[in-house]
Amino acid sequence: MKYVGAHVSASGGVFNAPLNAQKIGAKAFALFTKNQRQWKAKPYDQKTIDLFKKNLEEVGIEPMHVLPHDSYLINLGHPDDEARQKSLDAFIDEVQRCEQLGLDRLNFHPGSHLKKISEEECLDRIADAMNQTLKVTQGVKLVIENTAGQGSNLGYKFEHLAYLIDKCEDKERVGVCIDTCHMFTAGYDIRTREAYDKTWKEFDEIIGYKYLLGMHINDSKPPLGSRVDRHHSLGKGEIGLDAFRFIMNDSHMDDIPLVLETIDESIWAEEIALLYSFVE
Ligand SMILES: [Zn+2]
Ligand SMILES: [Zn+2]
Repeated sequence: MKYVGAHVSASGGVFNAPLNAQKIGAKAFALFTKNQRQWKAKPYDQKTIDLFKKNLEEVGIEPMHVLPHDSYLINLGHPDDEARQKSLDAFIDEVQRCEQLGLDRLNFHPGSHLKKISEEECLDRIADAMNQTLKVTQGVKLVIENTAGQGSNLGYKFEHLAYLIDKCEDKERVGVCIDTCHMFTAGYDIRTREAYDKTWKEFDEIIGYKYLLGMHINDSKPPLGSRVDRHHSLGKGEIGLDAFRFIMNDSHMDDIPLVLETIDESIWAEEIALLYSFVE
């Protein structure tokens, strides 16, 4: 069974997100647990937590099909100790917010070396931050998102994700989210049956399907291997619809949140219906 949705708005309060998901026929969704462009937010009050859980239950979406996304400001691999600590504190706060909402996973971008340290040093800083986070939180899995590799962002190679999983001290609480746009612009082709199978075989060999805890379903404006992160609506970009048809018929993507981050939210309902129409 496939659980498709979109990254919906939580404006006015996180409890609005499940309702926004329901409006577009989603069976899964992503949200920001706080304003994604600010470092600090006030803690949730009990009313907010209760209402989120109530709404989630009412729309019939399981917590495991909700994939919160962390703030864009956070860089767990920051070369500067002070800046990295600020990121770590904010990250721990986000994991705790997920705990409070009864959610079991948090999607995050690994981090950037900002051309000041090596890729490996940066990955080690990220892994260390993940381990520190795991020690002071419980029940929430840290879901590393692959990136397009724009600028100095790490996570554009399956090997980067595997490296972080390998260093992670609790394998039960780590996983990955594969964004199709990022995958494609990082150089992993999925446009044809052959390319799709080859890319996912590589994924399985290097990372392993058991770590796949979510996906972002996006077409791409820039071409294969361009290392540029620009999403597009399904079928309107360089990837094309076949890849999404393959995903909807691939049992490895069963029971995980499949979340649209496509650029035109006015057609999310249509895109969700389109994806479900692909199921054979
Ligand atoms: Zn992301
Ligand atoms: Zn994404």
